[in-house]
Amino acid sequence: MSTIYTYAPAPEHAFPDHPERPGRLDLLNLDAIPGIQSSPFSAASVDEVSRIHTDGMIAQLEAACQAGPGIIDYAPTFVTAKSFESALLAAGASLAASRAVVKGQAKNAFAIVRPPGHHAEPERAMGFCLFNNIAIAAQDALVSGVERILVVDYDAHHGNGTEKAFWNNPRAGYFSTHQENIYPGSGAMDGAPHAKGRIADFPLPAYAGDKCFFRLFDEALAPLAKSFQPGLILVSAGFDAHWNDPLTSLGLSSAGYYAISRKLVDLADEICGGKIVFVLEGGYDPRNVANGIRAVFAALTGSEPPRVDDPSIHPEPDISKRVDFFRKWHALD
Ligand SMILES: [Zn+2]
Repeated sequence: MSTIYTYAPAPEHAFPDHPERPGRLDLLNLDAIPGIQSSPFSAASVDEVSRIHTDGMIAQLEAACQAGPGIIDYAPTFVTAKSFESALLAAGASLAASRAVVKGQAKNAFAIVRPPGHHAEPERAMGFCLFNNIAIAAQDALVSGVERILVVDYDAHHGNGTEKAFWNNPRAGYFSTHQENIYPGSGAMDGAPHAKGRIADFPLPAYAGDKCFFRLFDEALAPLAKSFQPGLILVSAGFDAHWNDPLTSLGLSSAGYYAISRKLVDLADEICGGKIVFVLEGGYDPRNVANGIRAVFAALTGSEPPRVDDPSIHPEPDISKRVDFFRKWHALD
């Protein structure tokens, strides 16, 4: 079985001077990546999207798009006349990727999509995100019979939309690493006391990089995932946690992205038969995005990681106390 990808770059979903732009994918050359196969997909139906989003939200978004280019919130999130269609394609590409893995037609998968999704809540689009692609794919997997799913979100921002979609769903786990005190402001470590061991947020101080991530993936994520026992892992893959992303201040390098992606693939091998699906979220430097996507594919295919040497220029903070608190909060000791 092979590693597949779906590609929905939304060239027409564009707004002047906006960081979430088609050019984010300009340096990505999928044809040069060994061992991967393109997979066809179609736009998601409104029915499929409505498993996560309310009918009112979908109608409101469609109307905003039809009204032509404009800004719909302070993030700022933009829409154009083509954005509703682009958002359905991004959701459809994510569904196709996860379905192929759930059905055993592909070993694992990566949905490379725009617009991103993890900030989109059931009742509103926000934070550059229209439909919540990964939540739609995760819900579809649950409906199709996967007993439990785990979303791991290593985008630099908290995936408030995904967390909200699964707030009260005992079959869905959510683990997020994100920079503290930036958009959207949610994601405190003790923010979901009703869902210990299932909704797990790990806010990070600025400049937390490769060493911090390796440690918290080994000491926080791995025991939590092993205890939760998902049948499928979905990854909100944001490349804005790279140290020179223009919007944020975390500290991952491209080699660090490879290593944490590899840890996730190994974890999936250990606990859920290797079933893992990556879905693109943020990342606003085209070089980081291209290097990050190549790193994920190297992890998925078991190939040599790309030779990119771009270590962070910042020293890393000490996150020992946070790791201890996290392990106690989720009863992992
Ligand atoms: Zn982000």
